[in-house]
Amino acid sequence: STTRPAVLAVMKLPSFYLERLRQSFELLDRTHQTDPQAFAQAAPRIRAVTGGGESLVDRALMAQLPALEIVSIMGVGYDKVDVPAALERRIPVTHTPDVLNDEVADTAIGLMLSVAKKLPQADRYVRQGLWETQGAMPLTRKMSGARLGIVGLGRIGQAIAKRAEAFGMSIAYTSRNRKEVKYAYFPSAAELASQVDFLVVITPGGAATRHLIDASVLRALGPQGYLVNVARGSVVDEAALVEALQQGVIAGAALDVFENEPHVPPALRELDNVVLAPHIASATVQTRGAMASLAFDNLAAHFAGKPLLTPVPECR
Ligand code: NDP
Repeated sequence: STTRPAVLAVMKLPSFYLERLRQSFELLDRTHQTDPQAFAQAAPRIRAVTGGGESLVDRALMAQLPALEIVSIMGVGYDKVDVPAALERRIPVTHTPDVLNDEVADTAIGLMLSVAKKLPQADRYVRQGLWETQGAMPLTRKMSGARLGIVGLGRIGQAIAKRAEAFGMSIAYTSRNRKEVKYAYFPSAAELASQVDFLVVITPGGAATRHLIDASVLRALGPQGYLVNVARGSVVDEAALVEALQQGVIAGAALDVFENEPHVPPALRELDNVVLAPHIASATVQTRGAMASLAFDNLAAHFAGKPLLTPVPECR
């Protein structure tokens, strides 16, 4: 047939993914946000939705797409996709697990080193000429050999643990279920936090993990403890975190994700014991390329009548 399936991209996507989509599909690039008239005209023939891990694919959007057959997320997290609403219409949702494990784990280790050794602060120290006027920087904290706690020992959590082993760290974790691993298990985030120097959060987002890291967990982590969040902003009570950082309840934090992205509370930006990143944990050319390929291949499989490569667990 000459009519290519219509695909709606609901987020700004990398050009290499958009180009591949254009080759096989009629691509509507964020038309639902930019051109309501064109969207209303195209909506009845849109058969697929794609977007990054932060894509909002709610019941209201899906209700406007009567021909929708598949939602392909270019990311492993899909907490803003209303999966129950999709399942009601037997619309499968796919994501991109595993291909980003190394990248996100690398970023987590980088953030741990950054917050402990104050590497971004050190860069600023030199640029601002403080080395010349103030002399040496204050001493920082060694990471090798320290105690690491991982909240969420899934695909990425295990990749972080593997790297931390090479740093001679002792490793403990919490998750819903205990795993067949040699690392120490704690049944709650607070119990884990009380036993570690670095607490790295790498669970999914969504209602089930909302504010899993609250004021009590931060108190348990304590004044020598560092928090690293590469999961979702919703997992950490951001207001409680700001207060804990301001009052020395914890030593510092490194954050790749925030409750209301791209808004970062000014109070966080003002703190010197904090390292901030704009949701870049998987954002290299190589890994985003692999994620785009997998997101594309799921769409291609669907329209070829073949089994999906990586449906989300609820759709398997
Ligand atoms: P997995 O599903 O493999 O692992 C998730 C882990 O979280 C599991 O160990 C799971 O426990 C645990 N978990 C889930 N719910 C809870 C809960 N309520 N309390 C405690 N632990 C819980 O996912 P991935 O490792 O592939 O990815 C994890 C998340 O990381 C993604 O969902 C995404 O939100 C985030 N992410 C962020 C990125 C970024 O750019 N910053 C990039 C990539 C991912 P159990 O095994 O017992 O079920």
